[in-house]
Amino acid sequence: MRIPDQIIEQIRHDTDIVEVISDFVVLKKRGRNFLGLCPFHNEKTPSFNVLPEKGIFKCFGCGKGGDAITFLREHQKISYPEAVKLLAERLGISLPDDTDDHAQGESNRYENAYNVLRLAGNFFYKNLYADIGSEALQYVRLRGFSEETVKKFALGFSPDSFSATMSELKALGVSEEALLDAGLVGKKEETGRVYDRFRGRLMFPIQNPTGRVIGFGGRRMNDEDTASAKYLNSPQSLVYNKSEVLYGIFQAKDALRQLGYAILVEGYADLLSVHQAGFQNVVASSGTALTKEQLRLLSRFCKRIKIVYDSDKAGINAALRGLDLAVSEGFDVEIVRLPDGDDPDSIIQHDGKEAFQRRLEEALSLVDFKGEIFREQGLLATPTGSTEAVRSIMETIAKVPIQIKRDFMIRSVAHRFSLREADLYAELTQILRRNQFVDAKERSQMRLQEPSNPEPPPFEIDTNAAKRTTISVVNSQSAGDISADKYSQQTASTTAPIHDAFTLPPGKTLLPEEEELLRIALTIEGACAYMRKKEGVSEEFFITNEAKTLFLLIDRASQYGKPLDYLLKSSAQGDDVPSGIMGLVIRPENPSEGWQKLGAEISQDNVRIMYDCITRLKIRTLEIQIETLQTQHNALYSSGSIEETFQIIATMQELDKTKREMLSHLMR
Ligand code: ATP
Ligand code: MN
Repeated sequence: MRIPDQIIEQIRHDTDIVEVISDFVVLKKRGRNFLGLCPFHNEKTPSFNVLPEKGIFKCFGCGKGGDAITFLREHQKISYPEAVKLLAERLGISLPDDTDDHAQGESNRYENAYNVLRLAGNFFYKNLYADIGSEALQYVRLRGFSEETVKKFALGFSPDSFSATMSELKALGVSEEALLDAGLVGKKEETGRVYDRFRGRLMFPIQNPTGRVIGFGGRRMNDEDTASAKYLNSPQSLVYNKSEVLYGIFQAKDALRQLGYAILVEGYADLLSVHQAGFQNVVASSGTALTKEQLRLLSRFCKRIKIVYDSDKAGINAALRGLDLAVSEGFDVEIVRLPDGDDPDSIIQHDGKEAFQRRLEEALSLVDFKGEIFREQGLLATPTGSTEAVRSIMETIAKVPIQIKRDFMIRSVAHRFSLREADLYAELTQILRRNQFVDAKERSQMRLQEPSNPEPPPFEIDTNAAKRTTISVVNSQSAGDISADKYSQQTASTTAPIHDAFTLPPGKTLLPEEEELLRIALTIEGACAYMRKKEGVSEEFFITNEAKTLFLLIDRASQYGKPLDYLLKSSAQGDDVPSGIMGLVIRPENPSEGWQKLGAEISQDNVRIMYDCITRLKIRTLEIQIETLQTQHNALYSSGSIEETFQIIATMQELDKTKREMLSHLMR
């Protein structure tokens, strides 16, 4: 049935467009109008205008414009009648019964899925207060969740049966297809039989910002039953994409706007306890590592985050990752630390909300948090460790998009580690340059090598070859008689570094310069050949054995086009891709990003970075040589001849001169 025109007119008239759009966009008042970042295209300066008196919006960046109905249609990807219905719901206007001659096709499938999920939510909720749910209700009370919390978050119970939920919903007229679309039932591959996904679990409906149920989390209630997962989530479905969901966002919306910051926790139970304790600006990433999409969603409501994750190792790592990601999305981030073994839920249930409040107030800045973590890890006990720590902090600071904020942070790093700000800025510049290059925004120019062999033959590699190779002598006249054997012991022990020039970052088997060079060689077509021909790089040039091996492998693969493609193809044919290769492309903090960067070609920037890395490696090699000579010199001091000693000193001086020259090249 068509919605009568006069009702649509009334809805248009009564709707506050600012309120509607504010659900999705942070709007600031500018005179009589409102201004924000356009949700329809990517922009850094706001050009999205909302004119409340006229009831319209207009983006001067991308040109999109219209009324509240247009906005919802385009933004939520829903049909015209659905948008009207949503607005009617907000206004409490009832529409004539919808007998479905309008909404069709895809959007109908969406609507169906939402509908099914709503019905399921109701069913679960009712169960909790029925006989069948008595155990679940008892569990809820045991966990300390109040009636009000249960209601507000519509907790429920799914019967311990393979078909109870399905039967209930089918009786309400829901088709099997809709149940599958909604992710409520699974289908056995072999038999084609469908079954209830959630059985005997405490149910947490997951709602989108408008309050629609889009999925569920279900917790098992018996912690002895370790055979089944503690939490089970809806699968990816038509309407549920876990990387875009923040649990609790619907209930937190207003508080997020009012308070201007979000408390970010990990789990369902954490969220309920924190919310119930009166901190309503809480959202949970619920089991997935925090994603960009989740942060973009959150950024519609606020621009500051306090991360409160578990205090265990996994929690700290998750916090470190979340921190970097949130910072690069432009959030101000603080981290709240909890005592060992606690999570936000346990703190509140055991020590009360005041204890939690105190923790919130003691939240650490990113510099302090990382500093503290590194101290606890013992990194600050040695100069090399400290350097690594400062680098890591600077890496995070480099992600802060606003200069002034970076300035403050750098000041605090300088203070904390007694370093000169100028040195930190130098480090920052380096990192920024490298990141910019890695981003490979500008592609192209200088393609150096066309793919030759389209059909890659199987490859084999002699991994021992690398172990036999030795450090190349950069300046062969002045390097004197340093033979390979003198180094072989040193280079072999990648775990127990001998001198500074060769100290590996914790947990790494490659030097940073090697990693960078190899990444370029691996992901950019023609880079390997370029390094060989122009810069004389060979496997011998690298310092660690791992790097030598990887270079040989990449170089071999580079004959057939982009090395990575080739290696992946070979792996599809059954050859293992060494984990070192995957380590080069997949960065731990965000696996997907590594893959996006692979389309790059050699640009001027790449060339500069290559040159930079190569020079740095040469310098490292020189340093190793100098140190070895120094050791020889010390040994000769008592026993050797004067001539020998002088010879060594002269060589050392020469090497040192070369090193200085190279350093001065780097500085430019
Ligand atoms: P509880 O207090 O109920 O034991 P928790 O939140 O403390 O739950 P954690 O083990 O810390 O549980 O897990 C944090 C979050 O990670 C959970 O809330 C849930 O979202 C997710 N999670 C935990 N275990 C699983 C699992 N087996 N499958 C999917 N998600 C899980
Ligand atoms: Mn817990």
